[in-house]
Amino acid sequence: MSLSIFNKLESEVRGYIRSFPVLFTKAKGAQLWDENDNGYIDFLSGAGTLNYGHNHPDLQDAALSYIKSDGVIHGLDMATEAKKIFMETFDSLVLQPRSMNYKLQFTGPTGTNAVEAALKLARQVKGRSNVISFTNGFHGVSGGSLATTGNSKFREAAGVSLGNVTFMPYCGYFGDSVDTIDYMDTLLTDKSSGVDHPAAVIVETVQGEGGVNAASFEWLKRLESLCKSHDMLLIVDDIQAGCGRTGSFFSFEGANISPDIITLSKSLSGYGLPMALVLMKPELDVWRVGAHNGTFRGNNLAFVTATETIKKFWTDKCFQESVKRKGTIIESRLQNMANLYPEGDFSVRGRGMMRGLRSTNPELVHNIAAAAFEGGVVVETSGSKDEVLKILAPLVIPDDLLRKGLSIIEDAIAGILNVQSRTRKNIRPLKRAGGVS
Ligand SMILES: *Cc1c(COP(=O)(O)O)cnc(C)c1O
Repeated sequence: MSLSIFNKLESEVRGYIRSFPVLFTKAKGAQLWDENDNGYIDFLSGAGTLNYGHNHPDLQDAALSYIKSDGVIHGLDMATEAKKIFMETFDSLVLQPRSMNYKLQFTGPTGTNAVEAALKLARQVKGRSNVISFTNGFHGVSGGSLATTGNSKFREAAGVSLGNVTFMPYCGYFGDSVDTIDYMDTLLTDKSSGVDHPAAVIVETVQGEGGVNAASFEWLKRLESLCKSHDMLLIVDDIQAGCGRTGSFFSFEGANISPDIITLSKSLSGYGLPMALVLMKPELDVWRVGAHNGTFRGNNLAFVTATETIKKFWTDKCFQESVKRKGTIIESRLQNMANLYPEGDFSVRGRGMMRGLRSTNPELVHNIAAAAFEGGVVVETSGSKDEVLKILAPLVIPDDLLRKGLSIIEDAIAGILNVQSRTRKNIRPLKRAGGVS
């Protein structure tokens, strides 16, 4: 069995390999292939890192020609041409058209390091240690970011107490009847509530790992006001929901808010190369020279593909309109499945091309993901009980592959519930139906 070295040598910490136990050898666009040339439609996209698909030809060309020209690959935070061009491009095509005025901090290339930097900065600016984070939030697994992550699976691995964070209920946490902004306002106003005055609030506009819960734009707008009225900085962690995933470059654009600090990573380089960025309002830039660093904060190859990504996809509204359109296809197909298979007790959540199908029965969701993989779709589960099937197709996926992947999921549902497909007469055979080689 070709996975034996993984079982023998790799730590028990390994995760995704257990859900998708094949040896992947090739990837292009929205598809992966294994060693036996079986094709898979990728509805995982590196947990939101491959918004532009695998090996996009233009990004591949840019990376290869940069390497061939002996361009600087590793540069710490020295000035390099690749970094200069990235900053000019990001400023002129992403920030300026949105009238956004921010300074950029290049952190170590993981999302968690950007979150660490954001939290440190907010605490330094306000001179306070407490930070508000939300139920089901996920912000990374290193010390400071882990303290803002809700899931006990991650928290219990820390081995130390995780402090200086107060968890508050996310939008809709108590159902429609409880307004969680009012709830927070009450606690923050009452000097005897026991909540230490926070330096900042950190929030995902759509919770990725936490179960594809989308905060309403109105809630986000009111959260911004809450931050202002209680002198707290607003940090939007846009590591997963950003870079186009929900239908605009930044996930909060529809809410018309102006966060004090923004974190970006995952799909920022566009090619799956590690890169992370903290955006801060200029007046917040109180960093002392070198006070936060990271050996790989100058991954110039990532700067090259990030620049190319912005030029290719973000010069006009075409791309984001296509994301919104495909997001609607996904939403209506999932809603259709929820309606057609009431046995599953499903509900649909999310925004843009970040969508989830939740069931009250986590085991059912687990089995659907496993059957979908048998059928040729790589798709993961998320949420506190892994009760949400999380659909994160590459944003560039062609319509036919998207529809095919969704049909395979529907067939998986019908198969698991042991009923006939209620949209098509014949259930297609599940074995590797996604295969296009
Ligand atoms: C993935 C993720 C992180 C952590 O990024 P890593 O690169 O895994 O450290 C932080 N915040 C959000 C919202 C994420 O989805």
